[in-house]
Amino acid sequence: MTYVIAEPCIGTKDTACVDVCPVDCIHPRKDEPEFEAAEMLYIHPDECIDCGACEPACPVQAIFTEDDLPEQWSHFTQMNAEYYGL
Ligand code: SF4
Ligand code: SF4
Repeated sequence: MTYVIAEPCIGTKDTACVDVCPVDCIHPRKDEPEFEAAEMLYIHPDECIDCGACEPACPVQAIFTEDDLPEQWSHFTQMNAEYYGL
C-alpha cells in the first residue's frame, strides 16, 4: 500500500507534509528545481512506509491511503507514481 496525494493539494502546495515525512518520499521539495513548476506534490509509492504522519499534517486533507482515496480522485494513485517515472 501507499499514501497518495490528491486534488486538494493543487493550489495549496504548502509542503507541510514534506516536513513530517520521515523518509523524504514526498516531492518536489521547495529546495528542488521542479518545485516552482509543479502544480502539486507527489508521494513515491515504493518509498512510502505507510507511517501516516503526513495525513493529519495536510491543511486541506489532500492525503489518503490508496484504499481510502475517494472514487473521483482514484486516478491520483497513478499520477503520484508517474511523477517518479513508475
Ligand atoms: S505515510 Fe509516512 S512515509 Fe508515507 S508519505 Fe506520508 S509521511 Fe511519508
Ligand atoms: S500538506 Fe497537503 S496541501 Fe500541503 S503540500 Fe502536502 S499534500 Fe499538498
